[in-house]
Amino acid sequence: MSRAARASIDLDAIRHNYRLAKSQSSRARAAAIIKANAYGHGAIAVARALHTEADAFGVACIEEAVELRDAGIGQPIVLLEGFFEADELDYIARHNLWTAIHSVHQIEALARAQLPNPVNVWLKMDSGMHRLGIEPDRFQQAYRRLRSLDQVADITLMSHFACADELDLDVTREQIRRFDQAAEGIDAPQSLSNSPATLAWPEAHRDWLRPGLMLYGATPFEVEQAQAAKLQAAMTLTTEIIAIHDLQTGDAVGYGAGFVCQRPSRIATLAMGYGDGYPRHAVNGTPVVVNGQRTVTAGRVSMDMMTIDITDIPGTAIGNKVELWGSQLPVSEVARYCGTIPYTLLTCLTRRVAIEYRNA
Ligand SMILES: *Cc1c(COP(=O)(O)O)cnc(C)c1O
Repeated sequence: MSRAARASIDLDAIRHNYRLAKSQSSRARAAAIIKANAYGHGAIAVARALHTEADAFGVACIEEAVELRDAGIGQPIVLLEGFFEADELDYIARHNLWTAIHSVHQIEALARAQLPNPVNVWLKMDSGMHRLGIEPDRFQQAYRRLRSLDQVADITLMSHFACADELDLDVTREQIRRFDQAAEGIDAPQSLSNSPATLAWPEAHRDWLRPGLMLYGATPFEVEQAQAAKLQAAMTLTTEIIAIHDLQTGDAVGYGAGFVCQRPSRIATLAMGYGDGYPRHAVNGTPVVVNGQRTVTAGRVSMDMMTIDITDIPGTAIGNKVELWGSQLPVSEVARYCGTIPYTLLTCLTRRVAIEYRNA
C-alpha cells in the first residue's frame, strides 16, 4: 500500500543484548541507555520491552524522561547531563528522576532549590575526556558539599570514557586510575562503563553499567571482539526495488554522474534516500543485501532514492526487498563505508521510515 521504507525492530534482540550486558558482571546493575529515542528504535517501545528487567533507564534530558513517565514507565531514570535549568528540579524530585551533577554550578542550583523530597544524584568526574564533569582535584570537595545538602538523597559516582572502544590504547586505563585516585575513600556506588567498557573493560564495571549502543546489537569496536560477537542486531532497515535499468559500459548513474558503469550493468533503484536517514556520504561500493545476497551501492544517494548494482544477482525483480543494514548486514560495517559510526546511522533515521516491532 505505501512506500516501502521500513525499520523492523526485534525487541527480543534488545532483551538479549541487555542480558548480555548484565552477564558481563556478577554484581553490577545496568541502566539501559535509551536517549535519542533509543538510538532511533523508539524509546517507549524499548522501555516497555525492558520494563520487567531493566534496573534503570538513562536519557539525555528531562524531555526524554517526561515522555517515558507519561507512558507509564516506572523505573528510575538517570538524566545523563543532569538538569539544564533549576526549574526542572521539582519534576525531577517528584518523578524519581536521578540527575547527573557535572558542575559546581549545578550543585549550587540544587542547594538553592526548594524540593518536595531529596533527589538521587550521579556526581560526574572529568577523568580525562574534558567534556563534562568535576575536575579530579575538586571532586572530594564537591562530594562533601553534595553530601551536606538536604536536597540530596543517594549519591553515585560516575565518569565517562573517551576511548573505551580502542582496545589497545592506554587512555581508558589512565582514566580509571585518575578516577580511582580522586574518588578514594568515598563510600558510594560507582558507574563508569558505556557499551565498549561493558564488553571489554571488566575493571570498569563497578556498580552500574550504562550500555547504550550494544542494546541495539551494534558493535562499538572496529575489530572483532568476543563479547560483541554475541550481540543480536535489533533493527533491520529495508526497502524495495522500484525500478531496474540495463545500462551500457560508460553510462552514468545518479546526481553528479557519481557512478559510471565499467561493464554492461543492471542497476536497481530503491525507495530509500537521505531523506529517510540513509547516509548521503555512503561511497560507491557500500554493501546492501538483495534476496539474501550481498551487492553494493552504485551512484550517489539522493533524497528519496538510491541505486545499487544487481548485475550479479540474477532473477532480481521490481518489488524485491533490500536490506540496508540489520540481521544480515551489521550497521557497524555500513558505517565504515560512510566514514561514520553506527550511532549516527541509527539516530539519524527520519520519521518517514515506518517502524514495526516484533516480539513485543
Ligand atoms: C550515551 C551515553 C552512554 C551510552 O554509551 P554507548 O557507547 O552507546 O554505550 C553511557 N554513558 C553516558 C554518560 C552517555 O552519555
